[in-house]
Amino acid sequence: MTLGKRLGQRFLPYGANYLDWSDMSELREVIDQRVLFRYQTEGESMASRLERTVAARLGARHALAVHNGTEALRLCLISTRPSVGDLVHIPAVTFVAVAGAVLSCGLIPVLVDVDESLSLDPALLPPDARRVITAHMEGTVAPVPEGIEYVIEDCAQSLGARLPDGRHAGTAGYAGTFSFHHNKVLTSGEGGLIVTGDPAAWARMRGYHDHGSARVPGHYPAWNDDAHFGENFVTSEEVAAVQCQQFRHLDEILAGLESMYAVVMDRLPDRPDLTVLPRAAGDAKVSVRLRWESRALRDAAVAALTARGIANWTLDKYLLPEHPVFTGRRSIYADGFPWNHAPAGPLVLSRDGFARTRDLLDRTLCVPLSPELAEQGQIVAAKAIQQALEEV
Ligand SMILES: *Cc1c(COP(=O)(O)O)cnc(C)c1O
Repeated sequence: MTLGKRLGQRFLPYGANYLDWSDMSELREVIDQRVLFRYQTEGESMASRLERTVAARLGARHALAVHNGTEALRLCLISTRPSVGDLVHIPAVTFVAVAGAVLSCGLIPVLVDVDESLSLDPALLPPDARRVITAHMEGTVAPVPEGIEYVIEDCAQSLGARLPDGRHAGTAGYAGTFSFHHNKVLTSGEGGLIVTGDPAAWARMRGYHDHGSARVPGHYPAWNDDAHFGENFVTSEEVAAVQCQQFRHLDEILAGLESMYAVVMDRLPDRPDLTVLPRAAGDAKVSVRLRWESRALRDAAVAALTARGIANWTLDKYLLPEHPVFTGRRSIYADGFPWNHAPAGPLVLSRDGFARTRDLLDRTLCVPLSPELAEQGQIVAAKAIQQALEEV
């Protein structure tokens, strides 16, 4: 019998496990109001309550909710008031949404190689870099590059993680972005959020995300004399309500992950061909990250875990230099926009053409942890993981 069946459940990521009709007071509240548009009323909307809660929880000055993490990245980039064709340095290993956000703003992504921990290596950044997106992947905290005008921290996979100085991931740079996609630490199906410590940046983002307006809640949008065009990224009350419910469980989820991380680490087989990627104290312990001696062993481990119904994933899919959008400079526009604005020459920064990164990714495997399990369940799960890994 597979682990999932033995525990009587399928694998659900993190926050999704906490969705429960008996606990949806915020959602009931907005349905009772029969108003799902955040700017319909002058009083505090659910979306504003969410933003207030998140800003306090993460120690950020401002928060702004949007539809998804990709939109959050776009809004951060747009708020820097770039020129078409400006360069944005992004990690060579991350979800392609980061590249899509850059390109869809008319900007040109430059792929920067990652270090042993798979985070963007700030040492590779040129001295004139102005815009950098760094991604905190798999609950880790990447180094936040210093001395750069606009550093955007993509925290889609690392909500709740803390930098070595104790600040929350997302609060060290110009702005931080979060996602509430199904697979993330907290979920509303789709959902996104930005935090920033810069009031002017927040004002630009808030305006652009609501048709370029300076709307007063409860009123039709109003445009100042210096208004620019915008789009509509305004979140919805029922989505904010689910996100508020999820945030009530964030501490519990992070603690559950910490506890299962310790339980699993205790039981990992001691094999010379297997190492565990170290995690910092401040990481959100969303998974145990394993590195095998060879790709064949890694693939055998995937098979052994999968056969036992144990969720697992690899990170090969994140190698952007091999993504068709980059290999073919693909665009939906007939004229190739914005690649037709790219400077001549390769748009990559790597010491070895990504050879080491390819090798690291080939041998890496992540086993996600289950914060919702009681200790006994975590021990059962850890033993199943142990047995699967011993079989390899
Ligand atoms: C999920 C994810 C995104 C995109 O978030 P969406 O809400 O799905 O748009 C961006 N960056 C990273 C690293 C992600 O994992």
